Formats: sequence, structure tokens, C-alpha cells
Amino acid sequence: MQDRFQRTIEYVRISVTDRCNLRCRYCMPEQGVRKMCHEDILRFDEILRIVRALAALGVRKVRLTGGEPLVRKGILDLIREIRRVRGIEVISLTTNGVLLPEMAADLRAAGLDFVNVSLDSLDEETFSFLTRRPLLGRVEEGLRALEEAGFRDTKLNCVPLIGVNEDDVLKLAELAREKPMKVRYIELMPVGCAYEAGLRGMPMDEVRRRLQEAFGAFSPVRQEKSLRGPAEYVQPAGFAGQLGFIDAMGHKFCQTCNRIRLTAEGFLKLCLHAGTGLDARELLRTGADDRALMEALSQAIYNKPAEHHFLEAGGKQDSRYMYQVGG
Ligand code: SAM
Ligand code: SF4
Repeated sequence: MQDRFQRTIEYVRISVTDRCNLRCRYCMPEQGVRKMCHEDILRFDEILRIVRALAALGVRKVRLTGGEPLVRKGILDLIREIRRVRGIEVISLTTNGVLLPEMAADLRAAGLDFVNVSLDSLDEETFSFLTRRPLLGRVEEGLRALEEAGFRDTKLNCVPLIGVNEDDVLKLAELAREKPMKVRYIELMPVGCAYEAGLRGMPMDEVRRRLQEAFGAFSPVRQEKSLRGPAEYVQPAGFAGQLGFIDAMGHKFCQTCNRIRLTAEGFLKLCLHAGTGLDARELLRTGADDRALMEALSQAIYNKPAEHHFLEAGGKQDSRYMYQVGG
């Protein structure tokens, strides 16, 4: 369906848990994380009702995220069930990769199409500092497991931070030179504890400049318009894969935004950084039938905000942390 700005909404990101086996400094505090209780989190049957209603409204792609989606018990069953929903064409998952060594093959068998792995550093020390866990080896093993399981077009996501993982900008790009994968750079967003942790993101223009200096000039690769994400891709000469840039701080992708988000506790968020949305859990748990659910969802989607407000002081921002929203 279209919102009031004629944007076609066809992609939902679903956070299936607020829990995580890492503690990335820009995302989740080490201590004092308030865990949602079991009853607060949407049950799978509730998620499926919402997915079916959204599919009937024109949503074609589901991404599962978290917290860390692979720590949610029964995630394979959820994927199998979403696979059966008529209208859903693509199911993907964003993970930190720690549990992929044992789960990659089962994820494939359950019907998952694509995986994005968040990996900010290929250096053990930097990885352990940033995630507060010494688990780089697991993620690397997980990447191999994805390949062996037959996953293609895997994407790596990196948040470049000033003075922390600057060297990884080039090191990660080398992976895309060798293999047909996409390495994407995401600008740090001032959400949750990112700034409290004293971290500063590298501006995307600086990331681009360093890559061009190392690999030569590049220009954008044309992308299919349908179901695309916010990244702009380039393919430097001699690269098997591509590099992607997500300029989160500008308003570059708001005008063509095709997505909505469902938090683990069932709040339909219409923009990553606006508090407005719909308490879908309340609706479900007070007995709304499918028609009432669809009406509420379509009205909420119609009113999706024009753009985010990262750069404004005060106002319409949301106080949720990234691990509560799913990125
Ligand atoms: N745990 C999974 C993972 O790390 O891929 C999924 C959830 S995580 C919240 C999703 C994405 O959000 C990750 O790629 C992470 O790097 C990104 N992220 C978290 N906090 C961020 C921030 N403040 N700015 C930009 N990206 C952020
Ligand atoms: Fe966990 Fe992902 Fe947040 Fe890191 S970015 S703490 S892996 S939810």
C-alpha cells in the first residue's frame, strides 16, 4: 500500500527479541539492560497474524532482526511459518553471526533467503573491545557456514567509528574485492547509547574518500527499484563484489523509504527514529479481529512520517535503544 506521500510500503523489519549475546558499545549498555518479560514479547502466533495482515496490505519482504534474532527460541519455526504466508516473497535476517556456525544450514532449510552479518572489525582486539565479547572467531566461522549452506548475496554491515575501526574500512572492502559479496558501511546514528559511549561515527564522505584513494574512483551501480534498501552501491574496478553506503544521518533515503518496523513488544514503528506508531500487541490482546487489525495497520502506515529527525534537537525522537528496535 502507499502512504500519504505516495511511498509504496512493502518491507517490514521485525525485531523478535531484545536479548543479545554481544554488547556492542554503540547499541547496548553492558550493565543495567532492562529485559522485557516473556509476556511482553509478541508470541509467534501474534507475529504471524501481523505478517499476514501486512502481506494482505502489500508487504512482500520480511527481515528478522533483534537484539540478536538467533537467540530467540524457535526462530526456525517462525521462518518456516512466514515462508507459508501468501504474498511474502523474501525473508532475510540480520545477525551478529555468533550462532551461525551451528544454525546456518537449518536456517537455509527453514526457507531463509538472505543473511546480513554485522561485522565491525576483522581485528580480534578491536572486535572484542567494540562488542565486549571475544567472539570474532565464531563470526568468521559463521560466514564460512553460510557459504557452505548455500547462502548467496550475503551482506556484511560495518559501522565505521573514528579512532576505533578506521582500518577495517579497507580491510573489509578487500573481502568484496575477492568474493561476490556486498560490504556496507553504515553511518553511526545518535540512538540509545551510541553517543553516551563516547563514540563518533566516520562521516560517509570520508569513508568514500578513503576507499577511492585505495581502490580508485567508483560510481553508483544501478539497482532494481523494487524491494531495494537504503544503501547506494558501487563496484570499484577489479571487485567481485560491491561496496554499499548507508548515509543514515542525511535525509537521503527518507523520500523513497519503503519500510516499517515491528518491535519485539509489538509496536509498529513507522520511522526508525520517531516514536509514533501503533500498539499492535494491545490490539491483538484486546480481541481485534483480522479486519480491525488490517484497518488499524493501514491507517498507521498511511500516516508514516515524511522523514526522520536525527539532526534536530528535542522533538519527535524516540528514546528506544537500537537493540530494542532492530536497526
Ligand atoms: N544483533 C543483530 C546484528 O547486530 O546484526 C541485529 C540487530 S542490530 C540492532 C542491527 C544493526 O544495527 C547492526 O548492523 C548494528 O551495527 C546496527 N546498529 C546498532 N546501533 C547502531 C547505531 N547507533 N548506529 C548505526 N547502526 C547501529
Ligand atoms: Fe547485539 Fe546487534 Fe546490538 Fe551488537 S548491534 S549489541 S549484536 S543487537
